[in-house]
Amino acid sequence: MNAAIPDQPLEIIWDITYACPLRCVHCYSESGRRPARQLDLPDLLRVADALIAMRPLGISLAGGEPLLVPGLFDVVERFTAAGIKVALFTGGWSVSEELAEQLLRRFFRVSVSVDGATGAAHDRIRGRRGSFDRAMQTLARLDAAAASVPGAVFGIDSVVVRSTVDELDEFCTRIAPRFPALSFLSFGAVVPEGLASRPGFAAHELLTEAQTRLMGSPEQAERLQELAPGTVHVTVTDNLSLQMHPEHIRSGKFFPAMQIEPDGAVRAMPAYEGTVGNILTDPPAELWRRSIDRWHHPYVVETLTPVRTMADWAEATRKIDYRFGSDAVRARLDRRPDFAVP
Ligand code: SF4
Repeated sequence: MNAAIPDQPLEIIWDITYACPLRCVHCYSESGRRPARQLDLPDLLRVADALIAMRPLGISLAGGEPLLVPGLFDVVERFTAAGIKVALFTGGWSVSEELAEQLLRRFFRVSVSVDGATGAAHDRIRGRRGSFDRAMQTLARLDAAAASVPGAVFGIDSVVVRSTVDELDEFCTRIAPRFPALSFLSFGAVVPEGLASRPGFAAHELLTEAQTRLMGSPEQAERLQELAPGTVHVTVTDNLSLQMHPEHIRSGKFFPAMQIEPDGAVRAMPAYEGTVGNILTDPPAELWRRSIDRWHHPYVVETLTPVRTMADWAEATRKIDYRFGSDAVRARLDRRPDFAVP
């Protein structure tokens, strides 16, 4: 095996539901547009036990909106009792003061998605009016609750698209200072997966080559860090490590993560459709072996090798999704409307 490939995933991302109150134009998981595939509590705990047995460094719960899942805290408790840290990604649509405190107590890191520095930009991307105000309210509640939770870590996770790439300074200078306990600002170039791989989206909202280079540069991280309050840690990424380009795999510049779908199905590669089995029925080592085989599948290698730009990547994603997605996935792709500029 390539020495750069670990013998098990270092991180696990579990999209614990595909239900979501928002309708983001770039949604990687196409949540809210496909069946939620959410398990009941006994099966959620079975998945949790299977993941614990893999002893990953960390687990991220995403989706969909994890806060819609009944029994979520039972699942988190199972992980933390086993000594595994759990991170949460939420759209922050509906978080009461009480829930905010619970989130800080139970998760080692809480990320609230904010995609524009203004309500107009954020609501347009998130597809629901009022979502910016709600996300700000959630951040304010986390900020207030942080005072009573030692070691609380929360921050903003922002997907950067072409129409918002010029708003990053404002996140640092206008939004971050509103929340004195904010721990981090995390900016990531939009990945052409899911709805973000559609041709219209690629043409209008994927970053240009120059913008992508900037998102991958330490200078940009340093510049934004200087603009943000001193207590806020700023990161930027071009997210190219998710591409699974054969050259990146050879050189070790890839993200050795396992992405789990809500019902325990395991994706071969986080950014692409196509599963290799289910964590409830297949041995984890075998699932990881099948995943690695997929990275080296001739169709994957042939499709990703010529990729140089974000637009190329989007086209490759559409091909891989169609080639390895289930019949249900292909039917959804066939019906999926293209992105239209709002
Ligand atoms: S909040 Fe997340 S899961 Fe929900 S639609 Fe937006 S990107 Fe998708």
